[in-house]
Amino acid sequence: MIRVTVWDENIQNENEKMKAVYPQGIRTVLAEALKNNPELDVRVAHAQMPAFGLPDDVLEETDVLIWWAHKTHDTLPDLLAEKIKQQVLRGMGFIPLHSAHLSKPFLLLMGTSGTLKYRYVDYERIWTTCPMHPIAKDVPEVFELEIEEAYGEYFDIPKPDDVVFTSWFEGGSVFRGGCTWTRGMGKVFYFHVGHDTYPTFYNKNIQKIIENAVFWTAPQMGKRSLLCEEEPAWVRP
Ligand code: ZN
Repeated sequence: MIRVTVWDENIQNENEKMKAVYPQGIRTVLAEALKNNPELDVRVAHAQMPAFGLPDDVLEETDVLIWWAHKTHDTLPDLLAEKIKQQVLRGMGFIPLHSAHLSKPFLLLMGTSGTLKYRYVDYERIWTTCPMHPIAKDVPEVFELEIEEAYGEYFDIPKPDDVVFTSWFEGGSVFRGGCTWTRGMGKVFYFHVGHDTYPTFYNKNIQKIIENAVFWTAPQMGKRSLLCEEEPAWVRP
C-alpha cells in the first residue's frame, strides 16, 4: 500500500465561489478520487488542524504528500517546511499543485523564486510532451479545460528532469505545466492546474495524472536514512 496524505489550506469556507465548487475542500475531492484505487491508503490533512495537520508521526507515515496551497504560504512554519524537505530527501514523494509554486516546501526543494506570469480566466489545452513518462500513462495526447487560470513563462524553476505536460492558453501563453525533479532519494511532480474556483479537480484526465504521479513519486524501497555513516572496510575474498 502507498500511504498518501492530501493536504490543503481549508479555505473553502472563506470564499463563496470556492465553496460552491469544493464544499468540503479540494483535498476531499482529490482524496475521494484516489480512494478508488485499492493500492492507495489515503488520508487528508489541512492547515487549520493542530500542527498544520502534519505532526511528525503523520509525516513519517506518509509516502506521498499532495500539497494544494494558495493564500497561506507565509503562515506555514519554517520548521515544518524544512521537515517536509527532509522527508523528500529521504524518499517521500511530493506533488505540489497550482499556487504551491510559491509554497515554502517547493521553494526549499527547488532553490529558485518559483515566480511566473498569470491571468485568472482562460481556456486551456494540456499537451502531453513526454508520452513515455509513467505519469502520462493513459492520458490523451491533448485535452481541454474549458476554464482555468492561465500560467505563463518565464517560470523560474530549475531545469526539470522531464516536462511531462505543456499547456497552451487561448490568451496566448504557453507554460511548462507538469514537471518532474529528483531531490535526494525523493521525487517531485509539480502540476500547475487547480485554481480555487474552477472545477478542474473533477476532470477525469486530471485525476488520472495525479494518480499516476502518486505511483511515480512513491518511494520504491521505503525512506532512507540521511546519516553519514562510517562503513567497515571491504575484505578482499
Ligand atoms: Zn489560482
